[in-house]
Amino acid sequence: MAKIEMRTPLVEMDGDEMTRILWAAIKEKLLLPFVDLKCEYYDLGLPHRDETDDQVTVDAAHAIQKYGVGVKCATITPNAQRVEEYKLKQMWKSPNGTIRAILDGTVFRAPVMVRGISPVVSTWKKPIIIARHAYGDIYKNTECYVDGPGRAELVVTSASGEETRQLIHDFDGKGIVMGMHNTDASISSFARSCFRYALSVKQDLWFSTKDTISKTYDHRFKDIFREIFEAEYREAFEKAGIEYFYTLIDDAVARVIRSEGGFIWACKNYDGDVMSDMVATAFGSLAMMTSVLVSPEGHYEYEAAHGTVTRHYYQHLKGEPTATNSVATIFAWSGALRRRAEMDGLSDLAAFADRLESATIGTIEDGIMTKELYNLSAAGNKRMVNAMDFLEAIAERLARSV
Ligand code: NAP
Ligand code: MG
Repeated sequence: MAKIEMRTPLVEMDGDEMTRILWAAIKEKLLLPFVDLKCEYYDLGLPHRDETDDQVTVDAAHAIQKYGVGVKCATITPNAQRVEEYKLKQMWKSPNGTIRAILDGTVFRAPVMVRGISPVVSTWKKPIIIARHAYGDIYKNTECYVDGPGRAELVVTSASGEETRQLIHDFDGKGIVMGMHNTDASISSFARSCFRYALSVKQDLWFSTKDTISKTYDHRFKDIFREIFEAEYREAFEKAGIEYFYTLIDDAVARVIRSEGGFIWACKNYDGDVMSDMVATAFGSLAMMTSVLVSPEGHYEYEAAHGTVTRHYYQHLKGEPTATNSVATIFAWSGALRRRAEMDGLSDLAAFADRLESATIGTIEDGIMTKELYNLSAAGNKRMVNAMDFLEAIAERLARSV
């Protein structure tokens, strides 16, 4: 059987530990037999990042800008213990942080849903995708402990030396104070990434802040979203039959819980941090959560939301089979292949991405799954398999679907 052709390379970023093992197995069992894979390979495994002084991560990010689509395996973000374990030259930064700083994107997290594994919230029938702004607010704050009575003021000095000064609080005892910021540029690119992604998945976009209380800060977010929507995206949204909808964060929470799902929820940095953990937990398993970084220019980078599953890797090194679930990593590949197919007009490749996802979901719905799903599943005929047998089962199903 002829393999499916690709035209433009996909930027492939290999990673670490158990996910690196699965990465190779997914390619061998689920991709290479069917697709004439065209990839530009970057090894983001920690040893190679160290060897190249992390240049490989920067090169990979630039390759995504060049080709438009990348797929990334989970990678270790080194801490002191990893520096020791891998004898690193230095404590390299998080690859995701480095790539995001270059692409300037927004991360969208979407759960993969299967029959038999129901979300904790019983009304949710479709995925809820969370878009988290990844710059500023309390993550880049300045804060201090106020040791006793005194005055705290907010002072802004313009480039020409003019000063504006506002009272924060006259302390008559001990307390705390914090300053934080965001920029129009960052909020605008967040907005554009959200509008673009909503159009690409044809789902409504919700955005929420606390602008009734924060009448300048949060209100600026609301205004920028509205202005960009009206000027650049309203027409395209109408054509696609989708909506942009702004509401207060507390109203959004109430609506989300009562909803059926099937939309994108854009959140400020802190809200997105908290809400994405809530939504992920309510949908079931971290191993079923995918993640895509979308730049304001429309470059896409797909990955699983989970890490390198270290505990399973040490088990694997002892020669034991592991219960690692590869669904989110498989969907990173299918997402990237589908995006590549759309950009290059390759209908066979798009159809393959669909078949790969159907075969994966179908395998679980037939009752074959790894341990953490087995513990959640309500399927009557469920059977627990190890990581490699799960991939084999998907591969058999995929071959039958051709
Ligand atoms: P993790 O790799 O996500 O794993 C945490 C635990 O969650 C695992 O021990 C496992 O639980 C469960 N789990 C996660 N993914 C699973 C899967 N696919 N199948 C089955 N169970 C799964 O998080 P971590 O242990 O905190 O981090 C490990 C390394 O990953 C760290 O070095 C960190 O820097 C890196 N990391 C990378 C990324 C990324 O590249 N995007 C994201 C997060 C973390 P049980 O042990 O109970 O089975
Ligand atoms: Mg968090």
